[in-house]
Amino acid sequence: MEEIQCQVCQEYMASPIKMCENGHNVCNSCRLRVSAGPTCRESLLNVRNITLGKNAATVIYPCKNRETGCEETFTVDDRNKHQFVFDVILTVHRR
Ligand SMILES: [Zn+2]
Ligand SMILES: [Zn+2]
Ligand SMILES: [Zn+2]
Repeated sequence: MEEIQCQVCQEYMASPIKMCENGHNVCNSCRLRVSAGPTCRESLLNVRNITLGKNAATVIYPCKNRETGCEETFTVDDRNKHQFVFDVILTVHRR
């Protein structure tokens, strides 16, 4: 399911997914940061890839921290929430 990874940040994308003029997919947060496609330098359109967005919402991914022992799997939305919690815990521990 590599097409559901963002071409800029290599993260799994949640809807809304945006496209460049050549149809490369970019996640919404990268769309806000960059103005041209990462591979082709075509300008990014403010167009949603609705089909891929729907598909992406149904795909189950392993946790980003699988290497450190987390065996959970999620849809991308739940995974982002889970990751957010994990990041917060890490940040607190670093202090
Ligand atoms: Zn991205
Ligand atoms: Zn492109
Ligand atoms: Zn986890």
